Amino acid sequence: MSERAPVSASESSSRHLPSVDRAVRAIEEQGTPVPRAVLVRWVRRELAALRQSGEAATQEEVLARLCAEVQRLALARLTPVINATGILLHTNLGRAPLGPAAVEAVRAAAAQYTTLEYDVPSGERGRRGAYLEELLATLCEAEGATVVNNCAAALVLMLKHFTGGSRKGVLISRGELIQIGGGFRVPEIMEASGAKLCEVGTTNRTTAEDYLRAITAETALILKVHRSNFWMEGFVESPSREQLAALALDAGIPFAEDLGSGATALTSAAAGAVPEPTPAQVLAAGADVVCFSGDKLFGGPQAGIIAGAAQHVAAIRREPLFRAFRCDKLVMAGLEATASAHLRKAAGEIPVVRMLGLGVQELHARASSLCEALGGVGASVRIVETAAQVGGGALPQARLPSVALQVMPQHCSVDELARRLRLGNPRVVAYRATDTLRLDLRTVFPEQDRALAEALRRALAP
Ligand SMILES: *Cc1c(COP(=O)(O)O)cnc(C)c1O
Repeated sequence: MSERAPVSASESSSRHLPSVDRAVRAIEEQGTPVPRAVLVRWVRRELAALRQSGEAATQEEVLARLCAEVQRLALARLTPVINATGILLHTNLGRAPLGPAAVEAVRAAAAQYTTLEYDVPSGERGRRGAYLEELLATLCEAEGATVVNNCAAALVLMLKHFTGGSRKGVLISRGELIQIGGGFRVPEIMEASGAKLCEVGTTNRTTAEDYLRAITAETALILKVHRSNFWMEGFVESPSREQLAALALDAGIPFAEDLGSGATALTSAAAGAVPEPTPAQVLAAGADVVCFSGDKLFGGPQAGIIAGAAQHVAAIRREPLFRAFRCDKLVMAGLEATASAHLRKAAGEIPVVRMLGLGVQELHARASSLCEALGGVGASVRIVETAAQVGGGALPQARLPSVALQVMPQHCSVDELARRLRLGNPRVVAYRATDTLRLDLRTVFPEQDRALAEALRRALAP
């Protein structure tokens, strides 16, 4: 690496900067999983920024800082974590974990050649997803089904399909112009799809009359979007989907619904008082097409599932963007196994479904064993009853009675304990409750309990 003579006003400080080689060697000496080429690029950028800032620091200080900061880069690697947040579908933690059958299906499809687009009887080219689509259509009690990269892509394709002709208008209630997580905003998705957004009613009240009055010769579709991550109480009204379907039918306009979470028979009742509608129920109520995510309540890999009238599903498959949004073989393998488990009502095979159904008794028993295993540790550890959440924009009102370990550390602050757990091996993500740290057991796999106890013991040591 050739050292250029410094020419800028920061001449005096840049003289103290270590060479890229020297910094990379120093970082490698302390052991790092980051490949050298990545390190070199990163160090170059950091040194350039330091040179620019003109900040005065000795070589040793700069080296020490680089060695510390490279941790951030190394920690950004995709790594398994123990989810002790009590949020089942934590979007930041990758939503639904797959069950053993789905993992095995993914592994087999990943490591070998497959029949992805191969028709076995004829030895000719076959259609990708043909079997999976049968499973999904059966599950949704629909004429047809197909699958794409995620629910956002599914919605775009539905909108493209229904607004592909001369009519572009899509009626949607002002109460459903939602944003989900980072970057999914219904109005923006609609605009990007070339649909013309026609807002109906008000934020809290939209009536069937409002929809009727909004219908024009330009109207291509009535769209209903699941509110997903919030709910409204008080002076609220919206027509039932049966009413909307009837109204659409009368007007000769299709009716579609974005369901988001996609509950099935195995999960819809888990919410208790406010059951989540299943795709089958929504189609039976008169929707022409529905879409939902594969990695929310469905409990599979990231995907967007579209189900409904055969004619619409077939046309959606022919959309030019369908090719851009299609799933890969690993996702298809994981989805096949997950859909098959739903059809067999094998709740135990789908981790999210199993976690939803866990009894408080069972959680209490595990909490007691954990407390025993933590005897003599530097903290007060109590068992507390908490409320777990579904998360991921599903069943926002559902509070699942749950059990957590509530920890008050003796040798460090609560924030420091949380940090040590996050940085430990395995990584543990807990949550703060006033001046304690809580670890909800509903989202921790029972087979992780021992590792969790050991992680806690290490993090609580003086
Ligand atoms: C979560 C959600 C989406 C986005 O789903 P992705 O699979 O993350 O693209 C879209 N619509 C609704 C109603 C949702 O709840």
